[in-house]
Amino acid sequence: MTIPDPERPAVLGGRPVRPAGPPGWPRPNEAVSNVLRGMVESGEWGRYLGQHVPELCRRLAEFHSVEHVLTCSSGTVAVELALHGVGVQAGDEVIVAAYDFKSNFQNILQLKAVPVLVDLHPQTRQLDVNQVETALTEKTRAILVSHLHGGVVPMPQLRQIAESRSIAIVEDACQNPGAMIDGCRAGTWGDVGVLSFGGSKLLTAGRGGAILTSKAEIAERIKRYVMRGNEAYPLSEIQAAIVLPQLDLLDEFNKRRSNAVVRICAEVADLGLSPLQLPSSRLQPAYYKLGFRYDPGQFSGLARDTFAEAMRAEGIAMDPGFRANHLIHATRRFRAVGGLAEATRADADLVVLHHPVLLEDNDAIDQIAKAVRKIRRNAAAIQQQQCRQTS
Ligand SMILES: *Cc1c(COP(=O)(O)O)cnc(C)c1O
Repeated sequence: MTIPDPERPAVLGGRPVRPAGPPGWPRPNEAVSNVLRGMVESGEWGRYLGQHVPELCRRLAEFHSVEHVLTCSSGTVAVELALHGVGVQAGDEVIVAAYDFKSNFQNILQLKAVPVLVDLHPQTRQLDVNQVETALTEKTRAILVSHLHGGVVPMPQLRQIAESRSIAIVEDACQNPGAMIDGCRAGTWGDVGVLSFGGSKLLTAGRGGAILTSKAEIAERIKRYVMRGNEAYPLSEIQAAIVLPQLDLLDEFNKRRSNAVVRICAEVADLGLSPLQLPSSRLQPAYYKLGFRYDPGQFSGLARDTFAEAMRAEGIAMDPGFRANHLIHATRRFRAVGGLAEATRADADLVVLHHPVLLEDNDAIDQIAKAVRKIRRNAAAIQQQQCRQTS
């Protein structure tokens, strides 16, 4: 069978929908260039202490309407410090979704606490708040909850449960800085919230993180822990200085990304990719990754990983989602609540689109559905080649 060239998927040697590949990140940013030039000229680039870290803390506190902001060297460290800040100790239980960022699971172990894995909500594929009551024991100290792949956890409901049992919430907003949930920013619903400035994130300094809280005792406990005669996990002046101009643009960019997401979802919903959750009046999400359930039945049975690979060959930054933590860690490391069926499904069928394309024009947005259609039409041929390669 011969396929005419513009129709031929790039994995089968055809011309990619985006021959130049996916857009890079971070985007060129004149304000960042100016800040860096200024710091080089003034010598601030080499200083331990300066005005930029305190200024970033002040601006993040104002943006989120929280009392205290601490910066640190990564989102991963920020989660660890936040767990420490709410008093998690060896032997405590911490409730966390079975499908979550790998380092969140490992951070709980780092504190010698026990991850108690709960399932995902079948619709939104976020931590299922209805499972939390069942997960509680006298040892439960905290709930570590992240908003993933453009969806959000219903925080008012989760907070009600946590408050009635005096359990702390650590809210991981690394994937959705600036998102609004029922009128409050993501990261402010928990006793403590966490942001990442990692190199692929919406606010980036290459590395870095921040901790948000309105509780003085949590901020104090974290400060005492990181101060070992000197700061143990600092964010540098340069890092803080380049996050600041990005914060100015965050709401505008989140809005643009949301509009792009609505457009993409409308185009691909009938093609076998269903979005997890859409923006609404109560929810203005932020998109680091845009997650979809992939239905192989709509693609002649083409495996999820092969589909993602074919999309990448078309120049679209799409990847399989996370591995679920109950499937990759020894069972003695955690306690599972129920069968975790939905997290197991998420492990197998989620794909995520990386965010940089969401700031591009409509033509670029429409190329995503174009690539999906092309792969869908040729799914059987891609499948066949895959079989030939692996046999
Ligand atoms: C990126 C991320 C983190 C932290 O990542 P760092 O690279 O350590 O800054 C934490 N949680 C989630 C859900 C993330 O996506």
